[in-house]
Amino acid sequence: MAKIHLNNIAHSYQPNPNGPDDYALKSMEHIWEDGKTYALLGPSGCGKTTLLNIISGLLTPSEGHVLFGDDDVTSLPTEERNIAQVFQFPVIYDTMSVRQNLAFPLKNRGESVEAINARVEEIASMLGLTDQLDSRALNLSSDAKQIISLGRGLVRDDVNAILFDEPLTMIDPHKKWLLRSKLKKLHQEFGFTMVYVTHDQTEAMTFADHVVVMKDGEILQVGTPKELFERPRHTFVGHFIGSPGMNFLPVSLEGNKAKFNGQTIKLNHDYSTDISDNIMLGIRPEYIAVTTPDNGGIIASVTNVEDLGKHKIVRMTIGDHTLSAIVPEETEISTNEVSISFTPENTLIYRNNLLIEKDK
Ligand code: ADP
Ligand code: MG
Repeated sequence: MAKIHLNNIAHSYQPNPNGPDDYALKSMEHIWEDGKTYALLGPSGCGKTTLLNIISGLLTPSEGHVLFGDDDVTSLPTEERNIAQVFQFPVIYDTMSVRQNLAFPLKNRGESVEAINARVEEIASMLGLTDQLDSRALNLSSDAKQIISLGRGLVRDDVNAILFDEPLTMIDPHKKWLLRSKLKKLHQEFGFTMVYVTHDQTEAMTFADHVVVMKDGEILQVGTPKELFERPRHTFVGHFIGSPGMNFLPVSLEGNKAKFNGQTIKLNHDYSTDISDNIMLGIRPEYIAVTTPDNGGIIASVTNVEDLGKHKIVRMTIGDHTLSAIVPEETEISTNEVSISFTPENTLIYRNNLLIEKDK
């Protein structure tokens, strides 16, 4: 196994791209460390499948190089890259039994019958397919077919990496959770590098050590779930991660104070910015305290309170701006107007959508 290095990769599906908009992947430099689990997270169409297919060799990038360790594999076909890939829809042979389907990738590599049988039974038991091993794949539900497809991706223990392209989208939520836990367990046992593509933040955050957030063909941030939550480096990451996502308010800055709608918000750091910059204050709903309006602080109008049982989400407006706060379940919101305050160490400042980095 080896690290996978995407060296100045870019890809356009057009033969003569004219400018950045013609690229499904804009120029990027990224290393997938050996033995780590990654989630590749981003909205539909942002280039996740394109990126995965470049790693597996189904696609040759229009620019840059793919390196496995020190070896340049850019022009090597999939078969020679020693990568397993699981797709969103089942890729199985209907005429074969479940056992034959699972054995197929091993048979192709000329492994002994005993080794194949042992491994097939191990994977089948892990995925709950033991009872169906001798059934014909044709007669199974689409759920079961997708799980067999997953099994085919997991059956080899000598791969450089396993790539999953939204493999559980069609599976019901409870089973999805079980399968994801099994994938994690398998990772602990064998230590394969895993890249798991999803557009679902919960799936990404619960599966991976590192989450790679993409938008419009670019990687915006790579971080642990905690880093993405606490310090989103781009406003999109703040919006996209969290439920509800981060609040953003347009502000002007005066040293360690932000001015918003005629009110002052205290900051932990001094900032100096240009008048032409687009400055936003970012605050997670978890870090907004909501009290009665006679408590000082910023006055907001409540538009809705959602009681989720474990906490409440308070939706508010200040002038034309909307924002949300997550408050403890026992908080009573009985007035139309409330006073809100922000924890200064969790109040971040963004210039032209990028976080202005300050030490905590
Ligand atoms: P994701 O997997 O994140 O949904 P894709 O990698 O499939 O995104 O697509 C990225 C962009 O490339 C999209 O704009 C999509 O329409 C375009 N695209 C994907 N595959 C092809 C193709 N074979 N030919 C032309 N354009 C494509
Ligand atoms: Mg895709």
